[in-house]
Amino acid sequence: MPLKESSELVLLGTGGGPRIWAARSQPANAIIANGDVYIIDAGDGVIGQLAKSGIDTNSIKAIFITHNHSDHVADYGTLLLRTWQSGHKGPINCFGPPPLKDMTNSYMDYMNWDINLRIQHEARPDFKSMINVLEITHNSFVYQDSNVKVDCIKVPHGEADPSYSYRFQIDGKVIVFSGDTSKSEALIGFASGADILVHEVLNLEGVEAIIEKTYPGNEAFRNHIIEGHTTMSEVGEIASQAKVKTLVLNHFVPTGSPLLDKEEIWQDGVRKTFNGQIIVGTDLLRIPL
Ligand SMILES: [Zn+2]
Ligand SMILES: [Zn+2]
Repeated sequence: MPLKESSELVLLGTGGGPRIWAARSQPANAIIANGDVYIIDAGDGVIGQLAKSGIDTNSIKAIFITHNHSDHVADYGTLLLRTWQSGHKGPINCFGPPPLKDMTNSYMDYMNWDINLRIQHEARPDFKSMINVLEITHNSFVYQDSNVKVDCIKVPHGEADPSYSYRFQIDGKVIVFSGDTSKSEALIGFASGADILVHEVLNLEGVEAIIEKTYPGNEAFRNHIIEGHTTMSEVGEIASQAKVKTLVLNHFVPTGSPLLDKEEIWQDGVRKTFNGQIIVGTDLLRIPL
């Protein structure tokens, strides 16, 4: 269906991993189509980033979670709660791998005191009944409405299994979100010919510094980072083989390194294996579709 209003991709948070930093917010993205909003991941800070972007949370139609690592879901519950408190009347459809249902219910239990109080004394609509959670368990069609069609495939992310990649089709355009993944052959097919591939990226040179800062000498931690993510040259190979038009880098590891988290380093690292357009993502960057 042709879009009446311009549609866009907004990078809300581009920092990858659970450590604390100031440079980038944790992973979250928004697609805006015909005024409706679709959220992909909800890391710590997503609400503030939405507010800074001027995106109306009452327009959120669906939330897609790639996997349940905390950097992708830390503010998932808060996003639902504050969206309700800001006037959303529902429904909001939420998709992601198990145990997303349990996580949603646990968050509602955690906030039960506040939720009940506001329903009772502020005459607000019921919160729980406006949230629909559908758990994804395999490669599949996920969601469709008059603006978007969404499919997913499983991608390899070390021990964090399952982890999903989402493909959005909007008015003839294809936008793929890699989610967290090591180099994935399946993703190359899934993203084939995409207008935009939003892909995570790892600079191997930064791994030792992360380990040094958090758990010096921790081999398991080192393996987790290296085996679960995609290096700069691998990201370029994927984009080349999939023949994507524009590659948008996000989920930067390391994030906030004064030496390594620099536009030219990410550009140069990926450019060696990809000739198309490369956008080094920054928080709140808006990309027209
Ligand atoms: Zn992550
Ligand atoms: Zn992850």
